[in-house]
Amino acid sequence: MRDPRYDILFEPVQIGPVRTRNRFYQVPHCNGMGHVHPSAMARMRGIKAEGGWGVVCTEECEISPLSEFSPYIEARLWDERDIPALARMCEAVHQHGSLAGVELAFNGYSAPNRYSREIPWAPSDTPVRGYDPVQARAMSRADIQQLRALHRAAALRAREAGFDIIYVYAGHDLGVPFHFLTPRNNRRTDEYGGVLENRVRLLRELIEDTRDAVGDRCAVAVRLAVDEQMAGGLCREGEGAEIFSMLADLPDLWDVNVADWSNDSVTARFATEGYQEAFLSGLKALTRKPVVGVGRFTSPDTMVSLVRRGVLDLIGAARPSIADPFLPKKIEEGRADEIRECIGCNICVSGDHTSTPLRCTQNPTMGEEWRRGWHPESVNCAHRPGRALVVGAGPSGLECARILGARGMEVALVDSQRTLGGRVALESRLPGLASWARVIDYRLDALSRLASVEIYRESPLHAQDVVDFAAEHVFIATGAHWRRDGLGRALRQPLLGLACLPVLTPDDLLAGALPPSPVLLFDDDHYYMGSVLAEHLVAKGLEVIFVTPAADVATWTHNTLEQHRIQRRLLELNVTIIPSHTLVRGTPEGLVAGCVYTERTRFIPAASLLLVTSRAPEQALYEGLNHMPEQLHAAGIRSVALIGDCLAPGTIAAAVYSGHRIAREFDVPAESLLVRREIPYIEV
Ligand code: ADP
Ligand code: SF4
Repeated sequence: MRDPRYDILFEPVQIGPVRTRNRFYQVPHCNGMGHVHPSAMARMRGIKAEGGWGVVCTEECEISPLSEFSPYIEARLWDERDIPALARMCEAVHQHGSLAGVELAFNGYSAPNRYSREIPWAPSDTPVRGYDPVQARAMSRADIQQLRALHRAAALRAREAGFDIIYVYAGHDLGVPFHFLTPRNNRRTDEYGGVLENRVRLLRELIEDTRDAVGDRCAVAVRLAVDEQMAGGLCREGEGAEIFSMLADLPDLWDVNVADWSNDSVTARFATEGYQEAFLSGLKALTRKPVVGVGRFTSPDTMVSLVRRGVLDLIGAARPSIADPFLPKKIEEGRADEIRECIGCNICVSGDHTSTPLRCTQNPTMGEEWRRGWHPESVNCAHRPGRALVVGAGPSGLECARILGARGMEVALVDSQRTLGGRVALESRLPGLASWARVIDYRLDALSRLASVEIYRESPLHAQDVVDFAAEHVFIATGAHWRRDGLGRALRQPLLGLACLPVLTPDDLLAGALPPSPVLLFDDDHYYMGSVLAEHLVAKGLEVIFVTPAADVATWTHNTLEQHRIQRRLLELNVTIIPSHTLVRGTPEGLVAGCVYTERTRFIPAASLLLVTSRAPEQALYEGLNHMPEQLHAAGIRSVALIGDCLAPGTIAAAVYSGHRIAREFDVPAESLLVRREIPYIEV
């Protein structure tokens, strides 16, 4: 039963005309499904409600093609034809007694209108955000009136769709109402520009319009970024708090955070749980209305403390609700130790950035609820329960064993190491990645509750051992190792001259080796590993020269909102960054590097080379078994499958997903594994 310490989290809260059953509030978050995959979005939100989130919101919801975010996939209420898709979400949320919220958004100069080709609007003339060769035009008074009318009409459509909470969005430096607030965006000289009272006018009017349109039945929420964490930006101690005070009791609910999105959704590498508190505390005292805020909260004790100390009324969460849609229910049922805690990696954000359905490192069912019919907390029993052997207890093996066990299989999980977790056990010791160990912690805890799973440590298996074990189904999750020859994206042949100087890989460093300094780190992986190892080496007192064929370091981390922080950190650590270069050959004194645009080369003195390029799957065991078909047959082994990094090296999220998927599907006929999809109807 529930720990009485947490009772306060289950108190209802009145929000204007509606009442939420508890303090768990899924704030708006992108999901890469939106208007393109509406049933998938609805099912995903419905599962959050089932898992106990008292309020479940949409992502940004565009109110008009005059401001649309293509190719990014958001929700839409452009006109009445968009209502049924969002009504489906509202039904899914209401079915479990939760409230549905919608974040109405008009993005102005933040959205270049690539699809609609409409000229974006802004308080003053300005190029759009990003590098599209597009300028937004200054809104006329008539435009402002039109925007108010569009917002009002969208609010009415939202009410018709069934929403209970309707947002005016002034967060993340993304919406026009926010752009009007900030002098750097608003250089107007009319009644909407100049002094703060004027800059707040549009936001005030939109709140009043929304209340007037739907306030009888729906709560009006405002999402406001109170600090931009940048010189010349909105500041919590200055105009941030002033704006909040000026509008204090106008909305029914305040959803407060910091801007921009990369400051709001900081990864664990750069911020800990509760990192926004300094910006949020004190705001509640300025209003009589409930306040919700975020901070990657996964600990119920932290949540209780926030409410008791008067920082927040409602515990906002995007990522914690993605990693564990059943977080509230687990606390309610006295199972808080079963929470699948977010690790703060932002793989979820990459779905939005790549316009594909959301995915999550910790929760492999995220984004698959509708199309594959996966539920985060339940699986079917195996069609024919039997014995399974999982070799390798990295993320894929751990997840595979967890799901096989939950399906009633008798499972042996075997690893050659004493410490389980494979790559995650090693990588989580690197700077800033400690919370990644939650991938292991959650799974080991879950496995300890499954009586049918046995774990064998320090047991390297050879093919004959697998045959002797004679399980019906064998899952090989033996991982991968980093290549020592430089092969990757840029180098399609092994690098010349590797014998001339000490060459190391990430595996060597993870095993404790330190290369002679200065180290030339060649990063052709472009995710976190290169930059994290650079930090690690600097912390050990080594000089690092970071060479990458990309134009900036860790370039894929633009998708996890981290790139600028990583580049800044390496610069602050005095790492020499040489972008747009590949390697040509090694010499005893260093490396010859080549410009990726021209034929020019340059010599870079270095005492050692650290290659972070690509990984080779560890398939020796699998190949050994492939050579023994008769023995497999005689031992009653019906299937042998490669999973995770030993099938194809990828992210930890991909390894977990691979283990999860095969454990659900290994005994299901291929023809019944149809992945559902929504196909646009043809206008006639
Ligand atoms: P993944 O990311 O696919 O889960 P990892 O590299 O993280 O892969 O984990 C692989 C795990 O498999 C490591 O813990 C490693 O010690 C273990 N392993 C590799 N080969 C064998 C083997 N032959 N027998 C037992 N365990 C193995
Ligand atoms: Fe958390 Fe990573 Fe999952 Fe996002 S992908 S919810 S950051 S664990």
